[in-house]
Amino acid sequence: MSSNRSLATDPEWDVIVVGAGPAGSLCAEHLAGRGHRILLLERDHRPGACANCTGIIGEEAFEVFDLPRGLVVNTISDVVFRGPYRREVTFEGGRPLAHIVRRFEFDAALAERAEQAGAELRTGVRVAGGSRSPHGVEVDGVTDKRTETFRGRAIVLAVGYHLAILRSFDMDGPREFVQGVQLLCRAKDLHQTEVYVGSKWAPGSFGWAVPLDQGWAKIGLTTSGKARQHLDAILASEHLAHRLDLSDARVRLSPIPVGAPGRTHDDRVLVVGEAAGQVKTTSNGGIYYSMLGAREAAATLDAALRRDDLSAAALSSYETAWRGLLEPELQAGQQLREAFDTISDAKLAALMWIGGMESLMDLIRNRADFDWHRPLLDELSGHRVVGQFLKMGTRRAAEA
Ligand SMILES: Cc1cc2nc3c(=O)[nH]c(=O)nc-3n(C[C@H](O)[C@H](O)[C@H](O)COP(=O)(O)OP(=O)(O)OC[C@H]3O[C@@H](n4cnc5c(N)ncnc54)[C@H](O)[C@@H]3O)c2cc1C
Repeated sequence: MSSNRSLATDPEWDVIVVGAGPAGSLCAEHLAGRGHRILLLERDHRPGACANCTGIIGEEAFEVFDLPRGLVVNTISDVVFRGPYRREVTFEGGRPLAHIVRRFEFDAALAERAEQAGAELRTGVRVAGGSRSPHGVEVDGVTDKRTETFRGRAIVLAVGYHLAILRSFDMDGPREFVQGVQLLCRAKDLHQTEVYVGSKWAPGSFGWAVPLDQGWAKIGLTTSGKARQHLDAILASEHLAHRLDLSDARVRLSPIPVGAPGRTHDDRVLVVGEAAGQVKTTSNGGIYYSMLGAREAAATLDAALRRDDLSAAALSSYETAWRGLLEPELQAGQQLREAFDTISDAKLAALMWIGGMESLMDLIRNRADFDWHRPLLDELSGHRVVGQFLKMGTRRAAEA
């Protein structure tokens, strides 16, 4: 779009939210619920239609955001860890740790909540460019038929890993990514979530086999390279090969950010959710953290709109709030990743053996939290052997 086009002094919308994923829809819902005029633009014809995600969400998120439990297709209480040298450890949580939803249903439900709160949802509109002036923001939305210009007082960029649009607003996205690769298939006798670790399956990270409902399962992994090759190794493993029907299974690969960009706010602009790196650096799960980031964005924007001050200074409380909440976790996760990056299969198998001991299992059971990993990592850093392993990550993170 031309940069010298004049912006109306009284735009039609208070906030234009780009992207109806969990972050965008929650932000739109909270702002519309506080009486602001919110336009929610989504490129897909149905929110969540193209999400590449396992759909695992911790119990806490359901409580904090009153998420629709009717969408849960399975619940995770126990996890079987499979590692090198046939090492196997079962973690029995003894309580529901997390739930699994189908993203196309979940995202549609959140977008509907935003609409019910008063936001206007426009699907099938891809925001292709935009600009800012002292008076407001403009975006160009491209549909099947035409390009339409929308004007607002502020913009929220909640576009997941589709980061190109950030450049129109002089914002940077995350710089580091892993690959998330996954397929949906039929599976028999897969009753528990299984996690695969070790150099053959998921070097420096982990793979998963997650049962959904009605005999469906998602198999995938996150990795920094050779994603397809490692997925094939998991699919061919003696544990899974005979249980899966891979006919018609389509493999999907997507980037997942690891760590946040330097700045996620500016005059009239907030970057929220995965686009802001609000993703766990341990498990790469981003639904809950993105929603927490979106909640902070809505609180900041609500106050700023009321004061009619949408300057970077006024919006900086968003940055402070979300980083205060999530950054300690992101840093702890980075250290864990650094440690896992270098661990040999022999050491990993030994760690699993130690982890399976009753005393350590009790500690993990008591301190483990699906969403907040730092307290457990802090506790484990005092353990004679596990602590040594974690310190390797701290050293490498400090050197990096
Ligand atoms: C294989 C895999 C498995 C995963 N499993 C899990 C899991 O089990 N649990 C978990 O918590 N996280 C998981 N994640 C991560 C999770 O999917 C993301 O962190 C989460 O979706 C981020 O939410 P968001 O709202 O920020 O972005 P998104 O969910 O990506 O939503 C962004 C929305 O913006 C729209 N959009 C993008 N660009 C434009 C544009 N220019 N104009 C208009 N609309 C636009 C997109 O269509 C999309 O609907 C997984 C990721 C991968 C790759």
